[in-house]
Amino acid sequence: MRALCWVAADELAVREVPDPELRNERDVIVRVRRSATSGGDLPLLAGRDPLLRAGDVLGAEFLGEVVEAGPAVRRHRIGDRVVVGASVACGGCWYCRRGRHSCCDNGGPDVASVDPDRWRSNAGSFGRPRAAGGFAGGHAEYVRVPYADVGAFRVPDAVGDDRALFAADAAPTGWLAAELGEVRPGDVVAVWGAGAVGQLTARAATLRGAARVLVVDRYAERLRMAERHAGAEPLDYRRTDVAAELRERSGGRGPDVCVVAVGVPAARSVADRLAGRDVDCPDAVREAVHACRKDGVVVVLGGADGNVDTFPLGAVTDKRLTVRGSRRPDLRDVPMLLHRMARDELRTEHLATHRLPLEDGPRGYALFADRADGCVRAVFTP
Ligand SMILES: [Zn+2]
Repeated sequence: MRALCWVAADELAVREVPDPELRNERDVIVRVRRSATSGGDLPLLAGRDPLLRAGDVLGAEFLGEVVEAGPAVRRHRIGDRVVVGASVACGGCWYCRRGRHSCCDNGGPDVASVDPDRWRSNAGSFGRPRAAGGFAGGHAEYVRVPYADVGAFRVPDAVGDDRALFAADAAPTGWLAAELGEVRPGDVVAVWGAGAVGQLTARAATLRGAARVLVVDRYAERLRMAERHAGAEPLDYRRTDVAAELRERSGGRGPDVCVVAVGVPAARSVADRLAGRDVDCPDAVREAVHACRKDGVVVVLGGADGNVDTFPLGAVTDKRLTVRGSRRPDLRDVPMLLHRMARDELRTEHLATHRLPLEDGPRGYALFADRADGCVRAVFTP
């Protein structure tokens, strides 16, 4: 089959790779209909993960049709149209039984055996380095989906592919952020980053009843989308004193909930994380901690890698803040999000700003990485 593979730093290619096969009785094979770029791909693309190998297939967010199913698969039939959650989780461990699939003990690499003091095994991911326990991703004609009854979800007929695709990763990650932030009716919520996850965090906050949602970014097209589709108030940080605006628009207290959804900076090296080296605290995290009202909640999504120095810990204790984070979404919210999509409460298709054949994958990633031509997500069709 054809698949979009990482070859070398800043070099991708569509190559012929072996077809995936069922390896476990709980697997299904999905024929991909759509796959999307995601922010977590960018450090990989730049070659900053030493575990990435030439030929690894990228693609964390995808949707397709079940073409083969293992004998223990109960919830899926051949021909089902499914969206596959971005966390690979077993469904049976202590965390999965409590709906915390992103913390699954069995879905991901056994990093705890490498350094038990610092690392914990976690959910697995699609389109991440094989050597780190990643599974081949969705930028391909076919994908093997492990634990299919846990991680694959049938898409209601009323929801089109371009909308349902984002129920894999961006929508459940945004929902999780609003939940970790404990967004309540009447809250003021600030979100740093107006990419797909930031926009869907903003939408999750309005669906949970937030009175005001403010989104901070510098790309005008993204800010307009957040305004139109999530009812957010845009703040362009190049033109605005963000801290002053946030205070002003929250009755002088600061937002109740601050979410950092700026993604993993491509310049940050996974090698730094593996070696436990300190890196500087991202500006957005510092801003969020300082902006948040006393007794508020700061949520950091995937953006902090490694040991972060210059983190404003004093502000956390002075203001009795709660700081929470997640690198991956849970799976339990996917069916609810698909129902909201079917009821037209949650629209996501505008995030697919560029639709391309898989053969144009390298060009799609170039647009995505440079945020060129208003690109939020490039979506590929095999
Ligand atoms: Zn599990």
